[in-house]
Amino acid sequence: MFNKDTNIPTKRGGLGRLENGLGRLIIIGSGPAGYTAAIYAGRANIKTALYCGMQMGGQLTTTTIVENFPGYPEGIDANQMMMDLQTQASRFGAEIRDGIITKADFSKRPFILTTDRGEELEADSVIIATGASAKYLGLADEEKYKGKGVSACATCDGFFYRKKTVAVVGGGDTACEEASYLASLCEKVYMIVRKPYLRASDIMKRRVEQAKNIEILYETNTLGLYGEQGIEGAHLIYRKGEADERKYDLPINGFFLAIGHKPNTYVFKGQLELDAQGYIVTKPGTTQTSVEGVFAAGDCADPHYQQAVVAAGTGCMAALDAQAYLQSL
Ligand code: NDP
Repeated sequence: MFNKDTNIPTKRGGLGRLENGLGRLIIIGSGPAGYTAAIYAGRANIKTALYCGMQMGGQLTTTTIVENFPGYPEGIDANQMMMDLQTQASRFGAEIRDGIITKADFSKRPFILTTDRGEELEADSVIIATGASAKYLGLADEEKYKGKGVSACATCDGFFYRKKTVAVVGGGDTACEEASYLASLCEKVYMIVRKPYLRASDIMKRRVEQAKNIEILYETNTLGLYGEQGIEGAHLIYRKGEADERKYDLPINGFFLAIGHKPNTYVFKGQLELDAQGYIVTKPGTTQTSVEGVFAAGDCADPHYQQAVVAAGTGCMAALDAQAYLQSL
């Protein structure tokens, strides 16, 4: 099968080249970085397809109101914001496709990406915006009680714990946000924090400290979970290794993880340079990865800021970088 415009053999599901347009760009990921890249690429007349991945709309769809994205003085519903971004990307010609990229071959040109349906796609340039996923503590009990009391998404699962008692692990902004949300549904929320202080920003700290039904358990770690029919409690340890170390059981019905994220980059291992944590390494000040023509934007390449507005900004940079690259071909 040949593409009539370019005479380049196209594989099943491949992108045709736009008449008078630049080459074929595939964007992987549908968070703020991916959609922003798609808006810019579409406006630059680049033939663009965006693969949504496992969680259409990205991590923001697991939160409630976004209050810190500029331009929304009253905040905006996170799902609405992602739908608006998708509509804006479509408006400028980006094709939004369901599907997950399961394999990448950046050793040849055009690049070859394989989808979860086994389709092979050719691309002249690729923007990776695959984001990051929630981390777990690594306890065997987390696996045992997954879907039966263990969750990493309060917005998704909080409803099941209305008027019940839950614990949130972590002391960062995510943990505070999750705890505040759960406090609006649950009778009691414990925060299990391993340090003697919260790492979160001042405004988030104040919110949890002032909430009547949130209790912060500082210098506390989780040893395990127990319960016959789902979670009935957590085995905790206070001041592990100190003279006043104390082990005790805390009765809870739900256990929410909010201890940070890991980048979704395993597909690119061996293809691109990744750092020790798995974040994609980019050339400082650009979105250029270790392979020319492949760019990375958003949380998958950002171990530091991890903010929607930063992801959107780097998505814009990636599209401009891809445009310059495609023009140079
Ligand atoms: P952070 O890395 O900021 O915080 C992770 C928290 O989990 C820390 O308290 C950390 O403890 C704790 N933790 C990590 N590993 C373990 C472990 N194995 N056992 C127990 N506790 C553990 O991650 P967040 O997801 O909270 O935030 C990431 C970024 O996103 C930050 O920049 C944050 O500001 C931003 N963010 C902003 C929001 C907003 O502004 N609305 C909302 C959510 C996130 P320790 O402190 O001891 O390392």
